[in-house]
Amino acid sequence: MTILNSYLCDKWQAGSDPQTPLYDATTGLVVAHASSHGLDLGAALHHARTVGGPALRHLTFAQRGELLMSLSQALHEHRDALIEASRSNMGTTRSDAKFDLDGAMGTLAYYAGVAKQLGDKTVILDGDQIQFSRSKRFLAQHIFSSRRGVAIHINAFNFPAWNLCEKAACALLAGVPVLAKPGTATALLSVRIVEIWVDKGIAPLGTLQLLTGSAGDLLDHVGPQDCIVFTGSGSTGQQIRSHPKVLAHNVPVNVEADSLNAAVLGPDVEPGSDTFGMFISEVAREMTQKAGQKCTAIRRIIVATTALEAVREALVERLRDVILGDPADSRTTLGPLAGPAQARDVAAGLAELAKNAELIYGGQTEVPGHGYFVAPHLFLSTLGKDAPFVHEHEVFGPVATLLPVAGDAQGVIDVVAAGGGGLACSLFSDDAAWAGEVLAGIAPYSGRIYWGSAKVYDQGTGHGAVMPQLVHGGPGKAGGGEELGGERGLRFYLQRTAIQGDTQLLRSVFGRIAD
Ligand code: NAP
Repeated sequence: MTILNSYLCDKWQAGSDPQTPLYDATTGLVVAHASSHGLDLGAALHHARTVGGPALRHLTFAQRGELLMSLSQALHEHRDALIEASRSNMGTTRSDAKFDLDGAMGTLAYYAGVAKQLGDKTVILDGDQIQFSRSKRFLAQHIFSSRRGVAIHINAFNFPAWNLCEKAACALLAGVPVLAKPGTATALLSVRIVEIWVDKGIAPLGTLQLLTGSAGDLLDHVGPQDCIVFTGSGSTGQQIRSHPKVLAHNVPVNVEADSLNAAVLGPDVEPGSDTFGMFISEVAREMTQKAGQKCTAIRRIIVATTALEAVREALVERLRDVILGDPADSRTTLGPLAGPAQARDVAAGLAELAKNAELIYGGQTEVPGHGYFVAPHLFLSTLGKDAPFVHEHEVFGPVATLLPVAGDAQGVIDVVAAGGGGLACSLFSDDAAWAGEVLAGIAPYSGRIYWGSAKVYDQGTGHGAVMPQLVHGGPGKAGGGEELGGERGLRFYLQRTAIQGDTQLLRSVFGRIAD
């Protein structure tokens, strides 16, 4: 029996029974067990604060960047083994595993570049000096410095590599040690990644810890300099935010949660045009990549009633081409869901959607074996912003709903807004006036907006790809959090302090303050 250990206090440690089984999503067979029972999580946090924090803060931003680059390169060296680990637990196709892993390595490498720009410093100046009178002798300057606690990263099951690395990149660069807890169902890949890093001895002692299994009493040990970055369901986010110790110490919590992302097709877009083709490709990919288990996946497809039939036909044609099956087979384009719990959730969501919308495509369902396969499902609701369930519940699988609308800008804004706040919304239109109005109206409800149009139909990074240069997060239902976005991603781990004093003395400490 493979037991997945936790890496705490610079030692691999096994939790005691009962163990939680992890499944091979393709066969339904148990691949490993994990447990956090009996592990001293208070000691792990103390170790990070007293050993890892000082070690990291001893390094400049540029030196921390070298550390991030080494972490990225170590994963490159083991890329194929990690792709296999992803398949063996999560049932990802090679392409889906690469999406997770390459995103992880790319984000670490990107932040190594940010570190170079920050250079040989340990403190970031925020904004310009502030003068209070005509005299320049007394000034103020805001600075950012590393929090003295631990960055507790609680991750969802769907990106065991990217979630671990994108969060770690920002925290480590900010000078804050990390304790990461992956979603237990797919923790195998996160454990293999940390094993590689530990074997190479890349990270200074106490700077990187991994908790495998449930969170246990972790949050009972948080302190006022710690911070929590959570990705997962809205309900778990609420539990974390309202934990008594988190409340008592005002521990900052960043939440990335459920999101009913939308794609909007402008009424100006003709079927058969490049922009139309781009829209169809994005929606079909978002529905099926990683079996629809992406926080940014398109769940609501908003189209003008006049284009409904053309969209429906084109999408169904794409979905018919999807090959659902064993991810080890190179012909497969859609693998299983990550595990039994995820399959149960999606089955319940599909049953509820079917009561509230019309199923217009259910796809292939017969797959040999006992894995957690779900075919793509496309629904239709003509109730727009009032469609029940569609705007409230994220069915975390290859599932989306078509929502025909009249096409006026305000009507589209209302339907997007009915989702209560999302991570990513895409807009496909070549009509700048219409799109501009929609953009302005949906921006307050969206963390990121992807505008597809004829001139960029063969370019662009895609609706679902989270780029480290851009912020990731969204208001309302999406959790209200924000990660990444270049240097912005470090801010959560830094304390902003206003410093007032004599200009010469301030300059002697912070050198770069101008006259
Ligand atoms: P989840 O059930 O909320 O679990 C997320 C993480 O929280 C897991 O590591 C889980 O541990 C842990 N957890 C559960 N209860 C906890 C508690 N009381 N205290 C501390 N930690 C606790 O979510 P999931 O099923 O893994 O992920 C799917 C959801 O994540 C979807 O709703 C999806 O939209 C969302 N998601 C959002 C984003 C984003 O960026 N906004 C990205 C990816 C996914 P165990 O696994 O051990 O239970």
